[in-house]
Amino acid sequence: MNQNQHHNPSNDKQHDKYTILKQYFGYDAFREGQEELIDRMLSGQDVLGIMPTGAGKSICYQVPALLLDGITVVISPLISLMKDQVSSLNQAGVHAAYINSSLTENQIAKAFDNAEKGTYKIIYIAPERLDTPRFLHFVENARISLVAVDEAHCVSQWGQDFRPGYLNIAPFVEKLKKRPVMCAFTATATKEVKEDILCILGLSNPYVKVTGFDRKNLYFAVKHAKDKKAETLRYVSEHGNQCGIIYCSTRNSVEEVCEMLCANGIAAAKYHAGMGNAERAANQEDFIYDVKTVMVATNAFGMGIDKSNVRYVLHYNMPQSMENYYQEAGRAGRDGENAECMLLYGPKDVVTNRLLIENKESKKELTREETEAIRERDMKRLRDMTYYCATKDCLRNYILKYFGENVHGECGNCSNCLTDYEQHDITELARKIVNCVYEIRQRFGINIVVGILRGSKAERILSNHFDKLKTYGTLTEYAESTLRQVIDTLIWENILYQTDDDYPILKLGSDYLRLKDNDAHICMKSEIRHAKNTKTVSKSLSGKNTTLSRSNLTDTQYQCFEKLRALRTEIAREEHVPPYIVFSDKTLVDMCIRLPKTLQEMLNVNGVGENKLEKYGERFLEVLQNQ
Ligand code: ADP
Ligand code: ZN
Repeated sequence: MNQNQHHNPSNDKQHDKYTILKQYFGYDAFREGQEELIDRMLSGQDVLGIMPTGAGKSICYQVPALLLDGITVVISPLISLMKDQVSSLNQAGVHAAYINSSLTENQIAKAFDNAEKGTYKIIYIAPERLDTPRFLHFVENARISLVAVDEAHCVSQWGQDFRPGYLNIAPFVEKLKKRPVMCAFTATATKEVKEDILCILGLSNPYVKVTGFDRKNLYFAVKHAKDKKAETLRYVSEHGNQCGIIYCSTRNSVEEVCEMLCANGIAAAKYHAGMGNAERAANQEDFIYDVKTVMVATNAFGMGIDKSNVRYVLHYNMPQSMENYYQEAGRAGRDGENAECMLLYGPKDVVTNRLLIENKESKKELTREETEAIRERDMKRLRDMTYYCATKDCLRNYILKYFGENVHGECGNCSNCLTDYEQHDITELARKIVNCVYEIRQRFGINIVVGILRGSKAERILSNHFDKLKTYGTLTEYAESTLRQVIDTLIWENILYQTDDDYPILKLGSDYLRLKDNDAHICMKSEIRHAKNTKTVSKSLSGKNTTLSRSNLTDTQYQCFEKLRALRTEIAREEHVPPYIVFSDKTLVDMCIRLPKTLQEMLNVNGVGENKLEKYGERFLEVLQNQ
């Protein structure tokens, strides 16, 4: 537990929320939702903030914590998250501590002794510890003015990460002599979860703020990739020494991809549930401390990872649902700087995921019907995820609509918005494909249908005498990939239907009769492939020199950034904290642009508060002066 010497801000009545924001966190303005929530809390009202990852939920309770007289108790589910937050606060000059199972009994006793002496303004605690005698003894004599519940969806059985300990929270608050203000935060916005939070946590007359789910600094892209390894290597190399996460759906692919990257000289680490605890922890640490730039992992990695300078999240496989995708992709760009979310899609992904869903162990306490209902829900989610990979419309709009938001116009910052598409009339093609499916009595999958239409002489086609069909060889002039794309579109349009079997079968969809109409028009968007496609070209070249996140930097500024970054790493080593806790990428970028010459000027840089200025200001100025 880090205990620096700093003054207690609540003694200083001059401090208001803006001063706190600037002095401790180095920011000039609040982000959407923050100020409202803070004002309500300061006026004594309970609040619930539903905000996407990276929106800045912590500031919402940390600023009031510093303005209120007493102590703030923060309930948080994850050890790594607590540790990160507490080091950030200590770096910023705020006294904070955490109490969880990563500490020895001795350390816990010491933390409580300190807490009783009034050392800490903010105490993080795991929910399971709320009803321990030691903690209850402490709160009996302490003045708790605010209780903050982080990751509040953990209280709900509907959510993905139900945590029984969260049920302790309401009874705990009731035991307190004086009811503190309560605030709860989550990024999960479903109705059930929200109602559970309001009700089970016992918030009283709460102010609820839901901010938009859009993350404007994220660029979304889908790429249909045949050779995913080659594509991954190209992508990672293009991003130079930027930090990134690569998500794979299986442990095997984690191993393979990591090995491939390392063999090509890239500093990659791996993480999955099949590895020992020690190795996993070491690899995670290497990534967090920027020792390794790339983390290759299954979805076991990431919960509670606060690393703010992740510049890209690359999905090597399509995840099982948009919920999973947005959560994982959302780990990019938490510092608000531009970052990329790239998904490599291959048709095999659908099959693999289907198998994963089917073989998912059913929970013992569920009935057969319930298990079946969950399976169906998962299949529906998988279909929606698959459509995301197939759509030619704005990807951001697709995501926002999926999460129930209204959208207006296209975003201009996703791979579909930045690609020129041409509309093709595919009505005639559709008729031939539907006829073929009909001729083989809706009993085969896409491969066979495409084979027949292209006049393939493959064994399975000839042995079934499909070469005698009327539709055999009627579309030989089309590439296999084009026909597959057309079939995908027809599935979208409900003209065809693909079963959920292990070997999916193509059948006629509910709307196939539309084709009987002489005026029918079915259209498909496809990429224009000629050289003029400058928009896509410039995007795919956005690698080394003009990395998206620092696209505003000139070459000289970029060199300066690299020097500041090296200094940051050096300081991080000395202080034993992750580099992004010293200063975020965004802060370094701002330094390169403003080039402050004095400590006073340095204070204008985004993310430089008084405490950090005092600690590091001189050293960064020195580097800047040599520019
Ligand atoms: P969340 O918990 O909502 O995912 P965090 O609280 O971790 O998000 O904040 C994400 C990042 O945004 C952090 O680096 C934080 O310092 C930064 N941040 C928060 N509020 C502001 C603000 N008002 N101005 C600039 N940066 C901010
Ligand atoms: Zn878009």
